[in-house]
Amino acid sequence: MAKKKRGMVLALSTMLFMTVMPVTASSAATMKIRLTTDGQSTYYQTIDKTVGEFFKTNKLAYDENYRVSADPDTALTDGMQITVVSPKKITVSAKGGSKVFTVETQCETIGQLMLELKKNTGVGYKTAEGRSSSEKIKDGDKIELREVREEIYTETEELPFSREEEKSEELFEGETKVVQEGVAGKRLITMKTIFYDDEQVDNYCIERKVVAEPINEKVLVGTKKKDGSGTLDFGKDLGSIKYTKAVTMNATAYCPCASCNGSWVGQPSTMGLKVQHGIVAVDPKFIPLGTKLYVEGYGYAIAADTGGAIKGNRIDLCYNSHSEALSSGWGHTNVKVYILE
Ligand SMILES: [Zn+2]
Repeated sequence: MAKKKRGMVLALSTMLFMTVMPVTASSAATMKIRLTTDGQSTYYQTIDKTVGEFFKTNKLAYDENYRVSADPDTALTDGMQITVVSPKKITVSAKGGSKVFTVETQCETIGQLMLELKKNTGVGYKTAEGRSSSEKIKDGDKIELREVREEIYTETEELPFSREEEKSEELFEGETKVVQEGVAGKRLITMKTIFYDDEQVDNYCIERKVVAEPINEKVLVGTKKKDGSGTLDFGKDLGSIKYTKAVTMNATAYCPCASCNGSWVGQPSTMGLKVQHGIVAVDPKFIPLGTKLYVEGYGYAIAADTGGAIKGNRIDLCYNSHSEALSSGWGHTNVKVYILE
């Protein structure tokens, strides 16, 4: 019995040992990590908490050119596998071999490498003659590329002005007067030139922009005849009239009423025409009766009346009513009178 009891104690102590030991081991938290670099695996035992700590403890340093399967702050787990791919070292030769440099890259093809170079250095490249951008690259390759360079410049183009002519009664025929000097406009043309290495392969316009519109020259062209005749131009829609002479007269207004005509009220004009708008009184020695006129600010008229006070260059313009005559505003006002043919 006693012997049997002792055996039971031993068994119990073994059990105790067995149960206590794994607890001590798990508090140390030793983990097994498999690190595979370019296909070669190494096994590590570690108590580090994160991938970053693990690399630091084992003096492993990977710059941005390496591809690492886990971020430094990733928590380590037992049995974890971390994969590292070293960059390929590529020698690039550009500008016909006058520019050579090496790059470390994870790129798989020449095309990807060119995009990466453009992104990192700002310099564009294209493949050399006969090479394709889809070609795979491997560590130690020497790749010939052509540098693609753009040059942007601007040119100034002059925009010529045109000449606008306007007829003028103020000038004699054959005379001209510049009232607005012409000023050339300006256009900026932005050009782009493309070079492969140092060879220019394209040159084209990318923008045209007018920065100053031309200012047209404005010229008055005389129409006044030397003999005093001329043409009155009323504009495109209204046409024009020819006159033989233009004179400046002194104008007043009247109407058929008693206060305007005194004892002559109700009588026709000197020429026997009804006294109304279009009839004007003149000095027949200055303008013969019956002459057709055009009076500026009044209109077409016929010299058909006379008056006691109408002497020399005086002209009395007839209106249909006294109020119209008053509101017309003539009060010994200088007016241009055109004698029509
Ligand atoms: Zn009157």
